[in-house]
Amino acid sequence: MLQDIEPYLACPHCAQALTRHERSLRCPAGHSFDLAKQGYVSLLAGDAHTGTGDTAEMVAARADFLAAGHYRPIADALAEAAAAALPADPEGLVADLGAGTGHYLAHVLDALPGRVGAALDISKYALRRAAKAHPRIGAVVCDAWRPLPLRDASAELVLNVFAPRNGPEIRRVLRPGGTLLLVSPTPRHLRELVDALGLLSVDEEKQRRIDEKLGPYLTPVGQRQVEFTLRLCAQDVRTVVGMGPSAWHTDPERLAATLGDLPDPVEVTASVTVAEYRR
Ligand SMILES: [Zn+2]
Repeated sequence: MLQDIEPYLACPHCAQALTRHERSLRCPAGHSFDLAKQGYVSLLAGDAHTGTGDTAEMVAARADFLAAGHYRPIADALAEAAAAALPADPEGLVADLGAGTGHYLAHVLDALPGRVGAALDISKYALRRAAKAHPRIGAVVCDAWRPLPLRDASAELVLNVFAPRNGPEIRRVLRPGGTLLLVSPTPRHLRELVDALGLLSVDEEKQRRIDEKLGPYLTPVGQRQVEFTLRLCAQDVRTVVGMGPSAWHTDPERLAATLGDLPDPVEVTASVTVAEYRR
């Protein structure tokens, strides 16, 4: 419920606390944000808009894909790491930056009894689903590249799964000693599709570059690889391609032609790093 996370939210204009007045959240300076009837709130700064987010169609395909359990080992690894890293005392938010439909956050909250989670994303279509993904999730539309609408030191855990990373802001919203769990693809991720479809591949240095960028703000404390085999039908392949960073670089005609050449179902490697950082 949005109410669970309201004490952790900050006004995107002036960073002050927000309090509820009937169907809106307001700060002391008078900035006001209406609650959507689907259960989320938009805390975008004035000039931002949600046009860069996913469409309703993309979100639906992604939700189906995740609900089918294809990425379950990633969700399990996150939940395990979260339960091991966090103190039992349930103070402090779990914030998922780029939460999408709330799939991973819901799974992590199941492993953290009593803790509440904020699903942050630019896509309102995704957040309509996230708002319903778990009873302890509150969903907030925001822009990952702007100051996050969270109060300083509000989060005990930040999740970042295949999503934009904003190092200074992640540090600011984490409590001292708080944890970031970051999931990123390795060069082997979906390699059979990358080869067949001519998609952009993940470069070998990706993890090192991530560590370098986050280095001034957070300390890496460990990482593990999660690798497993996906069995995908043609529709799953289209979805997984659309979920990846190469979505905007795939010629639809080439995709359709190549899909015809692939076995159905096709076996594809999933390979990610789950990296842990401490503030
Ligand atoms: Zn304000």
